[in-house]
Amino acid sequence: MSLSRTIWRSVGHLYHESRRCIDFSPVDRVILLYHSIGEKPWSETSVRQFERQIQFLKNHYEIVDLDELFDTKRGVVLTFDDGYRDFYDTVVPLLEEHDVPATVFVNGAFIDDRSEILYSRLGVPEGENGVIMSANQVRELAEHNLVTIGNHTLSHPNLDDLSETEIKEQIVRGKHVLEEEFDLTIERFAYPYGSYNEESRAVVEETHRCGLIADRSTNISSDAALLPRIGAPATVAQLDWQLSRVANKFKKNLGL
Ligand SMILES: [Zn+2]
Repeated sequence: MSLSRTIWRSVGHLYHESRRCIDFSPVDRVILLYHSIGEKPWSETSVRQFERQIQFLKNHYEIVDLDELFDTKRGVVLTFDDGYRDFYDTVVPLLEEHDVPATVFVNGAFIDDRSEILYSRLGVPEGENGVIMSANQVRELAEHNLVTIGNHTLSHPNLDDLSETEIKEQIVRGKHVLEEEFDLTIERFAYPYGSYNEESRAVVEETHRCGLIADRSTNISSDAALLPRIGAPATVAQLDWQLSRVANKFKKNLGL
């Protein structure tokens, strides 16, 4: 037998054997965490890549609102943290085009670029304008049938660094500022930097219907105050890999 034929057969054998023990199929339910979509220095995903990811997700999942995730056999939820202006300018038109919902988590103190702290907290170069959505944009989205507004604390601190009183203030005031300014009921919370502890978890459980973290695992926990999300990657290839059962098994085993 020629060498190339032997290699060809071996590859086939390896492929077959690997399929028996490696599960490349995607996980059933997942919450994705995006930040800024665009070409800004702080954007993680380009518009083109984001569009490709939406198309990919539509081909493999039902893209649903968080409340419907458990009604699906294979569902994905889109979430966006920090309320960047490109959510309004770029993401919402795409949500409309594809008719898919999303939740955006906003910091009450940062709307309209009101606070200077936003630059250090979000790692955005100082002096940039139009970073965070304006009050009018948030007001418009509060009425939008594909968008749900969530609370991301008042001013995006790492809750782990705060006292119990400060934790409460950040979570509860963050919620009230949004509710009062935009005439909303805020039920969803996302922990800044994904970090949480017993105190912050307890306050979230008391004041919101659910809390979202950024975790390594895609497995949806039964704890509504600590729902894990996976950080949306830059490309479809990375997304495809991150959503596979084998990647999640690897991550779990490696403690990533
Ligand atoms: Zn954030």
